[in-house]
Amino acid sequence: MTDSLQQTAPFAALVAAAGSGTRLAAHMPKQFLKLEGLSLLGRVCQLLQKVEQVGALIVICPPGMLEQVSREHIEPLKLAKPVYLVEGGQTRQQSVRNGLKQAATLGYEWVVIHDAARPFASARLFSQVMDEALLHGAALAAWPSSDTVKIQQDGQVRTVPRENVWLAQTPQAFRLDWLEEALAGADTLASDEAQLLEASGKPVKLVAGPRCNFKITTGEDWQMAQSLSALPHIGQGYDVHAFKPGRPLILAGVRMDYHLGLDGHSDADVLTHALMDALLAAAGLGDIGRHFPDSDCQWKNADSLKLLKQVQAMLADYNIVQVSAVLLAEAPKIAPFIPAMQANWAGILGLTPDRINIAATTSEGLGFVGRGEGMAAKALAMLCRK
Ligand code: MG
Repeated sequence: MTDSLQQTAPFAALVAAAGSGTRLAAHMPKQFLKLEGLSLLGRVCQLLQKVEQVGALIVICPPGMLEQVSREHIEPLKLAKPVYLVEGGQTRQQSVRNGLKQAATLGYEWVVIHDAARPFASARLFSQVMDEALLHGAALAAWPSSDTVKIQQDGQVRTVPRENVWLAQTPQAFRLDWLEEALAGADTLASDEAQLLEASGKPVKLVAGPRCNFKITTGEDWQMAQSLSALPHIGQGYDVHAFKPGRPLILAGVRMDYHLGLDGHSDADVLTHALMDALLAAAGLGDIGRHFPDSDCQWKNADSLKLLKQVQAMLADYNIVQVSAVLLAEAPKIAPFIPAMQANWAGILGLTPDRINIAATTSEGLGFVGRGEGMAAKALAMLCRK
């Protein structure tokens, strides 16, 4: 390692991802579970890209999984910083020892350790912890407890003064030689690395971390993590149909009493088509042309509400939050029918009508809508991943 790199990025980041904990999902360790399409490990590795003081990542993997972790969780991220994968040991301390060995081989004199199962740490928190470590030798993020803490022992309960209580988190940053020494002298199993430094009499500094930097351990933690990371997915849809005499006019499943209908392969429900396109777009599933092509005779004169039901079934990974549609037409007036239209969509999408807005506007006589040649519809949909 060059001296200039050591000055700007003196830390090797050890990502603790060797746990075999399968309490959350029977099929894989929790650090490989995905939040919004990215594994917990992947999230932490991406975050570390933004932390200036980190020069290299050392991911400590479950034994026998190096190749799989690299292929499934690291390579697809195309990270700019070098990533080294090492196997973990029987205990966390052994795993950290293996990571430290790699950091020392690379010439690093400082390490920062972070749990892969804490996906909500920030680059700022990392920087604060590492800056404190550079000043004092060892520092960790911890959350100052806002709850009163009780200790129950031998049937007796007593209270610990709250102002003295900090709940340890990661990141934890250390002089590499201090941590090596502390690990070498450790005769008990510590639940975090700072504990080993404390036991060896070294100064350890606390940096206030946010409560959301919790470690995902239980099913309840996982649910909290999912709600914290749920980003809205937005999709828009647009559709046009020409008027044709002798055809029925069906809008959002409501048959209108009008002298013209809309031409199309299916029932030409222009509003429902725009809505389906918006829903599919929000989920990244293309459009209705892909799922219900004109060339397929099974969709001839199809009831578009039945197609909407099929689209809804394709969105099993999502909660539909809100939809909004606007009809562009010179006539007829649809205002009296909007509650029935909302009810049709609400029943299929599992939404309350206040989550479904349907509006209409004319085109002031302009364009194909203004000339009364047809109708257009636009729609927006917002989804959140379950
Ligand atoms: Mg259409």
